[in-house]
Amino acid sequence: MENIHECAAMKVGEAWISNESGKYELNINRVATDNDLEENHHLEAVGETIETVVVNVIFCPYCGERMQKSEDQFVPSFRYHDFSKWS
Ligand SMILES: [Zn+2]
Repeated sequence: MENIHECAAMKVGEAWISNESGKYELNINRVATDNDLEENHHLEAVGETIETVVVNVIFCPYCGERMQKSEDQFVPSFRYHDFSKWS
């Protein structure tokens, strides 16, 4: 997986666009805060990734740069990972 796009808005949080065999995917991580640690004892440290969502995109939603050249065969989809339940 190659990180191919990370514009200004994405640097503020844990977000980037990767290219996985020609598919452009927006990856966003939610990281643990002090509050999360208090509420969930499976978590160990502030800043650890607790949730990730990966959405396939044609454009960057933050700066508008076109990622995928053609919209042919584009099927919206996403993957979601919840790491907070690991013990
Ligand atoms: Zn962008």
